[in-house]
Amino acid sequence: MAPPAALPAGDRTPLRELLRSLAWPGLLLSSGAILACGFALGRETLYFNLSYAWIVCWLLLGERYLGYRRRWRENDGQLGPDLGHTILNKGLVQLFIVSLLATGVIERTPGGALADWPLWAQVAFGLVASEFGLYWAHRIAHEWPWLWRFHAVHHSVERLWLVNTGRFHFVDSFASVFASLPFLFLSGIGMDAIVWVSAITAYIGILTHCNVDMRCGPLSLVFNTPELHRWHHSIDPAIGNSNYGENLMLWDQIFGTWYHRPGHHVETIGIDSHMPAGFLAQLALPFRRPAAERA
Ligand SMILES: [Zn+2]
Ligand SMILES: [Zn+2]
Repeated sequence: MAPPAALPAGDRTPLRELLRSLAWPGLLLSSGAILACGFALGRETLYFNLSYAWIVCWLLLGERYLGYRRRWRENDGQLGPDLGHTILNKGLVQLFIVSLLATGVIERTPGGALADWPLWAQVAFGLVASEFGLYWAHRIAHEWPWLWRFHAVHHSVERLWLVNTGRFHFVDSFASVFASLPFLFLSGIGMDAIVWVSAITAYIGILTHCNVDMRCGPLSLVFNTPELHRWHHSIDPAIGNSNYGENLMLWDQIFGTWYHRPGHHVETIGIDSHMPAGFLAQLALPFRRPAAERA
């Protein structure tokens, strides 16, 4: 277990403490409210983008004024690769979805059996179902050396902030997509619920990586929070091979991989093997030689 490490100096006024406690649920709920407006107006895509921009703006302010770790604000030279991986992943996923639409795979997928359930129940069921695939894809990426080569790109950062949310090798991203989409589409929930599950996954993903000192308390028993995900990025596999859930901690709780030490803080994050600094070299490395085994 990591010893306690002091948080960066910062004042502990009641207002700041309140902001730390409200940040995570407040940003998640307010983004959801923006998306709900989009559904009401029939403009989900536009309002999803607005809700995502809303979170990004607040997290940028939070990282500046309510930061978790001062050293994580320093330039690590990885902004270009972080953005490169993010853009490549977004482009490939869009292409993949367009291909599914063009080939009629989505139309032929049996679904909607639960579409008469209340929307909240469909979303909850969809989150639990897709999380099963996400959990095992992530856990196998840590425990199977061949996949760890690709996942190591995400873990190679030595600081966490909102820009490395999308830093995944594209092979790693596709493994997650292929592991979760079947569970999502075959869960029987309606298309609106699928949009909600996808949006919540995006919101929780960016919240998880931010360098904002959020206090999530008992929420960390149920959801993937920044406090939990920082343990997941520990350089020590005995600590980092935990908290695999992307949105929910349900499967970590069931399979015994949930890890949290409230009041303690992760020390070094990263990997103990070499990762080149350049974007193209990071893309190529997993095909050339394995990263050190994780387990
Ligand atoms: Zn991981
Ligand atoms: Zn991460």
